[in-house]
Amino acid sequence: MESSRTRLAVRDGCEEAYHVKAAVYRGVRDIRIEERPVPRVGGDGILLQVEACAICGTDVRTFLNGSTTVTPPRVLGHEVCGVLRSIPSGGSDGLSVGDRVTIAPAIGCGCCRECQSGAPNMCANLRTLGLDYDGGFEEFMVVPAQARFNLVKVPDGLSSEYATLAEPLACCINGQEQVGVALGDAVVVIGAGPIGCVHVLLAKLQGALKTIVVDKVPERLAVASELGATEVVCSADDEPVGAVLKLTGQAGADVVIVACASSEAQAQALQMCGRRGRVLLFGGLPPGRIASIDTNLIHYKQIRVTGSHASTPLQNRLSVELLASKVIPAERLLTHVEPLDRINEAFDAAVAATEMKIAVRVS
Ligand SMILES: [Zn+2]
Ligand SMILES: [Zn+2]
Repeated sequence: MESSRTRLAVRDGCEEAYHVKAAVYRGVRDIRIEERPVPRVGGDGILLQVEACAICGTDVRTFLNGSTTVTPPRVLGHEVCGVLRSIPSGGSDGLSVGDRVTIAPAIGCGCCRECQSGAPNMCANLRTLGLDYDGGFEEFMVVPAQARFNLVKVPDGLSSEYATLAEPLACCINGQEQVGVALGDAVVVIGAGPIGCVHVLLAKLQGALKTIVVDKVPERLAVASELGATEVVCSADDEPVGAVLKLTGQAGADVVIVACASSEAQAQALQMCGRRGRVLLFGGLPPGRIASIDTNLIHYKQIRVTGSHASTPLQNRLSVELLASKVIPAERLLTHVEPLDRINEAFDAAVAATEMKIAVRVS
């Protein structure tokens, strides 16, 4: 290992591990910077020196409300980019120590029907970085060996901060693959956060003619407009279903993407969706919250309703290519970076929801 950046020293042929920093989630609204020994990995282990890790909506929900899947103490963060410091002894898909990588954080078992049919994100035994394993808000992160095919090399032209966008972008690609945006479609996105804005960009890339964004925060709608939304609806001023019907000549949308955690928005999606339209429930609801929907809307309008969860390694690979080629403008989506020592300020900013995406510079 290189000594200058890792605070490792070699003395008399023995590696001496100094302590490194980790931001440890210890409970609701309680993240502390703690010192830990540099983790050691065996012959099959993968060790990542984390450079940057972005804050996901899931991290914010865990920070604010706790989570049924996260047991503290846990290092959160699954939108991660770092340098490989150790790889399995048999090599890892053309990757070498020193390569910069991002990781598809949903790790399938590899042997179930879903994994073998190319959808490891649907594995019944799914384990996720930052939830079931410690994640990226720490200087050194151990990546389980079965994630060796989830690593995606990051090209030189793409910074580590921007590469953290690969995972959320991959989740949006997964969602749009499920819902099937087509040439000429009128697409509504409910929620103008970074995820909603990514959905607008992807829908346009796939040929959507109308991209209508609904949100209650005017500043976020302004960003969506700058990124190419053809119309915006401020739900604080306008009733969104009526507004979308008006903007689509009363036909309703071909595709409605719910990119927020709101049961009301899920119900509205069915109302503003046109005949033979498609609805994507992208954002999950908090535990215990059940949407009340009129299923006759699905029946009479022949609406196809689908969901999506996480992403596959292949979708993460495509994400890195879209970011590296600047087809997706990373600089418009990532607007705030804090050092690891200021992770609480970074989470406060994420809770305030005034920035787009926020990343933590780890080392
Ligand atoms: Zn995420
Ligand atoms: Zn599986």
